[in-house]
Amino acid sequence: PPVEEAIHDAVLGRAAAYGDRPALVDGVDGTTITYAQLGLLHRRLAAALAEAGVRKGDVLALHSPNTIAFPLAFYAATRAGATVTTAHPLHTPQELAKQLADSSARWMITVSPLLPTARRAAELAGGIREIFVCDQAPGHRSLTELLATTAPEPDVAVDPAEDIAVLPYSSGTTGTPKGVMLTHRQIATNLAQLEPAVTVEPDERILAVLPFFHIYGLTALMNAPLRKGATVVVLPRFELDTFLAAIETHRITGLYVAPPIVLALAKHPSVARYDLSSLRYVLSAAAPLDAALAAACADRLGLPPLGQAYGMTELSPGTHVVPLAHLRDAPPGTVGRLLAGTEMRIVSLDDPGKDLGPGERGEILIRGPQIMKGYLGRPDATAAMIDADGWLHTGDVGQVDDEGWLFVVDRVKELIKYKGFQVAPAELEALLLTHPGIADAAVIGVVNDDGNEAPHAFVVRQSTAPDLSANDVMLYVGERVAPYKRVRGVTFTDGVPRAASGKILRRELRP
Ligand code: ATP
Ligand code: MG
Repeated sequence: PPVEEAIHDAVLGRAAAYGDRPALVDGVDGTTITYAQLGLLHRRLAAALAEAGVRKGDVLALHSPNTIAFPLAFYAATRAGATVTTAHPLHTPQELAKQLADSSARWMITVSPLLPTARRAAELAGGIREIFVCDQAPGHRSLTELLATTAPEPDVAVDPAEDIAVLPYSSGTTGTPKGVMLTHRQIATNLAQLEPAVTVEPDERILAVLPFFHIYGLTALMNAPLRKGATVVVLPRFELDTFLAAIETHRITGLYVAPPIVLALAKHPSVARYDLSSLRYVLSAAAPLDAALAAACADRLGLPPLGQAYGMTELSPGTHVVPLAHLRDAPPGTVGRLLAGTEMRIVSLDDPGKDLGPGERGEILIRGPQIMKGYLGRPDATAAMIDADGWLHTGDVGQVDDEGWLFVVDRVKELIKYKGFQVAPAELEALLLTHPGIADAAVIGVVNDDGNEAPHAFVVRQSTAPDLSANDVMLYVGERVAPYKRVRGVTFTDGVPRAASGKILRRELRP
């Protein structure tokens, strides 16, 4: 059943009871916020925001890398009745202005290094009443100043079923990012759905290296662990050595990552230099993860097989996860089993009305209480995504096995059509990564002189394999796949473009 709770209550309702336990730890300098402090401070900050003029329904843009102040600002804003739109800290002023304008944001919270961008964006967008800073900057009120308030806590009645708690923007992997309206109920319900499968223990120490501003980090690294009384160690960005050192220093127990981090953990020489023995499990989500790569990572770290989860911003975000209790018996490569209260269909790509059975590939359709309220200001896009019967068309291709384990193949739109056959770029990327001379790879369809679309690989050479040639790459793939899947062109490159959530930005590779 849906959970009728405001997000700040769903997450911090038990904060006082967790008392002196560390809630948030700065992974670089060790500064700690306890649960008692987080409970108290986010209420006081909510009071200060209300005093500053924040009203129920106002949109507040939270524009910051991961810091220990991020959750504080976030829950204070929702408690004050605001809708939080989380913004990418690397946005240009123009990109940020677009989001501010699209979401009709009235308030911003940022950090001093990002102030020039925030200010310029606010100018371009118009409508921003005040920019607060988490740290200190002349001319802007800081959280510390705001927390000095003696104003009473605002009396805001949140309607969990209707009020928008978060307005994240989708990753923009396939086009322009869209504002996704997620109600308090949708977020709280999805947290409750995930909880029995991803059982965060109170003694756990979770490393928050994926961005909080994306729905995956927001859920797995902030909402879920803080709800359970675990400790969240916060890093502002992914940098391999800092990340590995933080695992060692803070005795991290659980990692929630995306495939590029799995790749680094499986292949990078630095990994051997750190004591990572505190780790109990690693979960990956957000993009296709190859089973062989996952196995190599688990072996190297001496861990049970990696688990995966599947979801999308529009699904608050989760629908499938490999329960932590089933890491060892889930089939390799699965993204998990359907969460309670959620329905799924797999329908034919050629004949969308036709339901497919186990073992057959088709589009994944989802129905459940975690489906977004809609895209902000885009009723047409919303209607194109959610049909009249309430099924959300994910645009992803997948199949289930007889026991209900889901396997995600790729996005419908990214499938390469080679002479009537369909080739999933993710499958070829995974295969390429098994080559010892390949550090990273991406595959797209390129139309050749003969008018056929065919797989083309972008390859980053391993430093130990400077002589790896296009022919080597094509031969390696050709020996391992059916002829129609062969890579028919190779470009060597220094890096594969990725979104902050870890997804390959294939559109940036297209000519
Ligand atoms: P946009 O919708 O703006 O193009 P996006 O779809 O990348 O961007 P997100 O909501 O961040 O934005 O990502 C959801 C998508 O991520 C899913 O539709 C799916 O393609 C992919 N994904 C998520 N988890 C997995 C997984 N475990 N395996 C494979 N793909 C995944
Ligand atoms: Mg999407």
